Amino acid sequence: MFESQTPYQSERIHAAAIYCSDGRVGEHFDDFLMHGLQLPRYDRLALPGGPATLVDYPQTKLENAAVVDELQFLIEVHGLQRIVLIQHQNCAFYTGRLGLSGFEVEKRQYEDCQRAADFVRKITKIDQIESYFARQLDGRIRFERVQF
Ligand SMILES: [Zn+2]
Repeated sequence: MFESQTPYQSERIHAAAIYCSDGRVGEHFDDFLMHGLQLPRYDRLALPGGPATLVDYPQTKLENAAVVDELQFLIEVHGLQRIVLIQHQNCAFYTGRLGLSGFEVEKRQYEDCQRAADFVRKITKIDQIESYFARQLDGRIRFERVQF
């Protein structure tokens, strides 16, 4: 048996983050959301490629339907008002599944932030959508705002 020492708090923060499920950056995403953006207890949607699942790729058709469904559920039940999209450097979804390389990867990830935000805005009517890029720098992860 294991009992978590983290106290349970029932209030919701009404925010969700959509990011890649890559376990190497999971703790960094948590740190950024909880301490960088002051969003403790945020709802998480973690899938390979993160925001890429909200872009119209043949490779993400199934995930897209699932994320749309999940978002609508969270809006209805958790009263979601803010959505944070995060891309990360060296994302294997972009290299492996989309077959991109070099500068194309980051360029496409930035474009996808915009496309994903537009799509989320369209299907949810939520205005507060922001995007970030998690960059590796000297063994650490730095989160940069993606401006449109
Ligand atoms: Zn990834």
